[in-house]
Amino acid sequence: MANVGTTDPTIEALEALLRETLSVSKDSKVTEKLTKAQELVKNVKVCSSGILKRFGLDGQVALVTGGGQGIGRAFAHALGESGCKVAIADLELSRAEKVASELEAKGIPSLALKVDVSNKKDVEEMVKKVLDKFGDLHIGVNNAGIVFHSNSEETSETEWNKTLGVNLNGVFFCCQAEAQHMLKKGYGRIINTASMSGTIVNHPQKQVAYNTSKAAVVHMTKTLGAEWAERGVTVNCISPGYVDTELNRSESLLAVRALWIRDTPMQRLADVEDLTGACVYLASPVSSYTTGLDMIIDGGFTCW
Ligand code: NAD
Repeated sequence: MANVGTTDPTIEALEALLRETLSVSKDSKVTEKLTKAQELVKNVKVCSSGILKRFGLDGQVALVTGGGQGIGRAFAHALGESGCKVAIADLELSRAEKVASELEAKGIPSLALKVDVSNKKDVEEMVKKVLDKFGDLHIGVNNAGIVFHSNSEETSETEWNKTLGVNLNGVFFCCQAEAQHMLKKGYGRIINTASMSGTIVNHPQKQVAYNTSKAAVVHMTKTLGAEWAERGVTVNCISPGYVDTELNRSESLLAVRALWIRDTPMQRLADVEDLTGACVYLASPVSSYTTGLDMIIDGGFTCW
């Protein structure tokens, strides 16, 4: 049984099929054979060619929204390096194209797409284009997000709607469009980028719309994770603490960055690379029993 790779999602789909068939089998001889087949599949997993190889994603197709820079760009590279073909979708097409060309230079098949995730039709079109190009979709990383700062009593309707539109509606539209394909295939990995702001209240900057949107993403992730668990599609989120990206480099935030560092046990902001291992884990077949998880990666920020 050695050297049998288990990075193929077919193994997981096969397990699910056996489980399902076993649950309706009334013939004791058939039940016995199915149970034996289940044991063999389990053995294939244990005796395959090594734990690190099982993290590999050879030939799988990943889609990363907000992949044109920052955290999404790092996730696109990490998934590509793990063996995926990667579609990079962003509001700014030129950013997505730049990242796609970086991946192509590494020999990773890629596709750049323009999308506004807050527009349901755009999102459906995006998933269709990925399927047209690569023929499948195994991993959806719903990462695009925006932030504004304002005192709550002054937060405008426009700011509220824009933030919720991208950070919450956008993530839901993506989960839905991706899952419509994945559920049919009986396999999928959905990873949403939430934030520790879904758990704690940031300070001193005021960001009620952002915090609300991220808390909702965390709970939506649990809801979808539970709903689709039996059908082979896992839904998890990564919740970073403060990360050193463009999102946090505006003039107005320069002063407060020092406070964030002071309040982080590790005494630094995260680098995007601090998040990529989690992304590969949640994207890979080894995370098959992980769903509805909010993986907070914050240098210890939420411990204090
Ligand atoms: P970023 O601003 O550097 O990159 C975000 C990308 O998303 C940009 O390329 C942008 O063009 C794209 N985008 C924005 N609106 C979009 C839309 N409507 N449709 C498609 N693409 C859109 O941000 P980042 O720091 O890399 O953040 C990525 C995600 O991580 C966001 O969801 C953010 O809320 C979350 N996050 C960031 C931090 C942090 O400290 N940087 C912390 C916690 C969570």
